[in-house]
Amino acid sequence: MANWKMNPQSLAEAKRIFEGIKKGIKPEAKKGAEVVICPPFVYLEALSSLVSPKTGIVLGGQDCFWNPPVGGGAYTGEISPLMLKNLGVKYVILGHSERRENLGETNEMVNKKVIAALKQNLKVILCVGEKTRDKDNFFSFIKEELWAGLKNISKISAKNLIVAYEPIWAISAAGGKADQPEDIFEMTIYIRKILFDIFGIRQPAEAYGIPILYGGSVNVRNAKRFLEIEGISGFLVGQASLSPEDFSKIVNLC
Ligand code: PEP
Repeated sequence: MANWKMNPQSLAEAKRIFEGIKKGIKPEAKKGAEVVICPPFVYLEALSSLVSPKTGIVLGGQDCFWNPPVGGGAYTGEISPLMLKNLGVKYVILGHSERRENLGETNEMVNKKVIAALKQNLKVILCVGEKTRDKDNFFSFIKEELWAGLKNISKISAKNLIVAYEPIWAISAAGGKADQPEDIFEMTIYIRKILFDIFGIRQPAEAYGIPILYGGSVNVRNAKRFLEIEGISGFLVGQASLSPEDFSKIVNLC
């Protein structure tokens, strides 16, 4: 998954990056990996005209609002899940740490967004991740983000859920360096255990079926090491997704 954040600054540049990624992805990679590009909202419509089943790329939003669930209403500046769905958008990133940090998004707000997006059958990428690798607290921080973010989510809609583990300190915008594969392995086991606790041990299909992505300074040099970790289904890529060459190389490795 590519998270372009607030980039690039023109539609022409967005189309150039998109076309470059399309060209760089090998045909066999299209069969093995799902590629999701999450540009700023203002480029979604134009880019949706460049997407076809042959391209092997689908589009995602970087956020959506929760109220009211069918869209419409006095919510200046907000985008509803139904608007995304009506544009042919398949995925939405929710709870990204930059929104939690810069816009004060709480677990409760993220949960309302998750519920609203799942109601529209969007696939939700719920981002979780600790600020610091503080051995005493970071496991409980992730646990709280998962329990609160997934409150009142039905087992049925869990099939449209993806969890992105993104330690905040490892995100390039925070000046980070990628995490260590061994630590991520431990975290995927922990996240999987929490998903079992949330969705119930009697529903292993739901808890097993939720893909876990890693995000945090993934690039062409370190992607392979992460892919060797059992438990990681793919990546949420920020900075490197703005380089068509680098991002398509990462997709081809996947
Ligand atoms: C992100 O912000 O989701 C992210 C993972 O960014 P980067 O790849 O630049 O660290």
